[in-house]
Amino acid sequence: MAHTITLIPGDGIGPEVSNATMRVLAAAEVDIHWDVQEAGAAVAEKRGITLPDEVLASIRKNKIALKGPIGTPIGKGFRSVNVTLRQALDLYANVRPVRSLPGVEPRFEGTDVVIVRENTEDLYSGLELMIMPGIAQSMKIITERASIRICEYAFDYAERLGRKRVTVVHKANIMKLSDGLLLECFRKVAQKHPRIEPAEVIVDACAMQMVKNANRLDVIVTENLYGDILSDLGAGLVGGLGIIPGANIGSEAAVFEAVHGSAPDIAGKGIANPTALIQSAVMMLQHIGEHSAARKIERGLLTTMECGTRTVDLGGSASTEEFTRTLCDAVSRA
Ligand code: ATP
Repeated sequence: MAHTITLIPGDGIGPEVSNATMRVLAAAEVDIHWDVQEAGAAVAEKRGITLPDEVLASIRKNKIALKGPIGTPIGKGFRSVNVTLRQALDLYANVRPVRSLPGVEPRFEGTDVVIVRENTEDLYSGLELMIMPGIAQSMKIITERASIRICEYAFDYAERLGRKRVTVVHKANIMKLSDGLLLECFRKVAQKHPRIEPAEVIVDACAMQMVKNANRLDVIVTENLYGDILSDLGAGLVGGLGIIPGANIGSEAAVFEAVHGSAPDIAGKGIANPTALIQSAVMMLQHIGEHSAARKIERGLLTTMECGTRTVDLGGSASTEEFTRTLCDAVSRA
């Protein structure tokens, strides 16, 4: 079956890793027509906006998008494209599987934890004000509706993927009302899922547990900011930002993107690791029912990593091009 998918190449290393990902998908013989849309810094320079209306319209029409990283110009009054996209399309669940890959030197062997991050509220509400000179205020918004919805997503995900436990990560001992509300919602939803063990961990203790024994947490469900920070911690555990994929899921659309940013320090040097976006594309294939192509890419990735073709960020010497070529060969044979 042919699929029309929105592709946003993005900024910095975005075009390089997007190009590599499209080649790998072609090697897996999935029939995709790419509806390429520009967003981010490049459009801001040309048109003074970072997210043209046609990008949102394209995603609304196609329902699925693969997105490269987009940086937010600092201090020019631009709102983050990532946050705007998530809020405009109500992509409420950000799913980030943190898994070790063979051949990549991890901090710990066999890490396998999934972070389900609430994507639409918390301190990302964008509500900030200067109360008076020298005093700034940021508003953390937590609602019952979003908390129930994200907890339900996490428990459903755990059931679907055969996981054992869902751990809510919070700071309700300090933020008794906001984080307390999340906790209350979590307990309500947990009662409806007796096959999954519920667990509760305070965010600082969670940071330690992630380093000592991440797998005990199994599936984490948490607020926007804690999820953001814990994802980078997770990336550090399994070899770096270059390999962690992500999916932003809503009821009307889904946008798949790597956890890493635009990495302007290495943009254009041909050394970016495309694995994170490729693994995001694997999640996308699973989402659209292309399971056989997804498995082919996963097998290809394992073979490529095991035979030692690694990019610089993972301690190897392969360029983006060499890595992509080797992976495409492995996927064609898988
Ligand atoms: P942004 O402002 O868009 O968030 P950033 O550089 O601040 O960009 P990241 O892009 O997330 O933040 O990455 C931090 C560092 O990790 C980068 O400077 C880069 O060296 C490295 N890095 C991130 N992604 C990759 C990748 N795919 N391949 C290789 N190195 C990467």
